[in-house]
Amino acid sequence: MDVPFVDLRTQHRMLHDDVQQAISEVCARADFALGQDVGLFEEEFAALCGTEYAVGVDSGLSALELSLRALGVGPGDEVIVPAHTFIATAAAATFAGARPVLADVDPLTYNLDVDQAKRAITPKTRAIIPVHLYGLPADMTGLMELASAHGLVVVEDACQAHGATYRGRRVGSIGHTGAFSFYPTKNLGGCGDGGMVVTGDADVAEDIRAMRNCGQRKKGYHELPPFNHRLDTFQAAILRIKLRHLEAWNASRRQAAAWYGEALAGCPEIITPHESDDGTHVYHLYVIRVPDRDALRAYLHDHGVGSAIHYPIPIHLQPFYADLGYQPGQFPVTERLCDEIVSLPMFPGITADQVAYVADQVVAFVKGAVTVAV
Ligand SMILES: *Cc1c(COP(=O)(O)O)cnc(C)c1O
Repeated sequence: MDVPFVDLRTQHRMLHDDVQQAISEVCARADFALGQDVGLFEEEFAALCGTEYAVGVDSGLSALELSLRALGVGPGDEVIVPAHTFIATAAAATFAGARPVLADVDPLTYNLDVDQAKRAITPKTRAIIPVHLYGLPADMTGLMELASAHGLVVVEDACQAHGATYRGRRVGSIGHTGAFSFYPTKNLGGCGDGGMVVTGDADVAEDIRAMRNCGQRKKGYHELPPFNHRLDTFQAAILRIKLRHLEAWNASRRQAAAWYGEALAGCPEIITPHESDDGTHVYHLYVIRVPDRDALRAYLHDHGVGSAIHYPIPIHLQPFYADLGYQPGQFPVTERLCDEIVSLPMFPGITADQVAYVADQVVAFVKGAVTVAV
């Protein structure tokens, strides 16, 4: 059996007719830039998140950067970011003109550790970006308390957690803003790039709306930094169709995670993802930890199973961030994770047979490898 790491084709075959029609309608209206579907998608996405405002942008990175800028974060400011995340979380702080300050993650949830974030606060700290990594909501209660005690703003990086809930609220709606990505493989992904900021703050929404469109509040009058970060109308039209399936797709991901969990439970060498009563994990990725990760990946590859590493090199050891001056060993939880994690196939519609096959290969390898090591 071959099990790809991710399969977008099955999903797109199912949506083919709806997507073709939506594309034709945009062409017929020819409202290609900030067209009608952008506004409608913003309303629908805000309704999902339970926020007053949503502003469509061209990527998750832009959603994060424009959030920071609209919240007044800039040169001379520090932004606390988990060391274990995708590069865009830190890059948003850099591109807003601020300095990313890293903090280690919790060894159980792999999300920003509240105590570590607290220790990273200096007089220059202005913002925290918690990441709901792999689809598991971060400790928003702890982080919001920390932020309010120190007068900081919170931008949720919800790029991997569309639709996830934390204590009954949708992620993205808890911080001052929430940033989403619609990169094709995300839980809600377009046929290209896209992003969204959600917020309850009218001024922040208005500033982001202006900044994404050449800094204009009024046409021809460029008051804010004149970026072009508009959400494409075709993407908005397609995302409107896909949004209707998000809950079912997240349920399918959760079902697959439950199958993996059962199949891998008998193997103490394998650490499966943490689930919490505080929030629903939407399994953007299904990430396990194993002792001999690289050999496992080679074994899976030889047995037709795709896998990936999210992420192999922590932010503080990335070449681009060498000038931040961090050293190996500074974020031990993150560094250990980077050596042990492997992401197994996970996508809506993955079948029980596919999951069972993948889990069998993992267990066979781990059991075999352990015998050899002993
Ligand atoms: C995907 C992702 C982003 C950035 O999204 P883009 O749309 O690719 O710019 C940011 N943060 C995290 C955690 C992500 O997974």
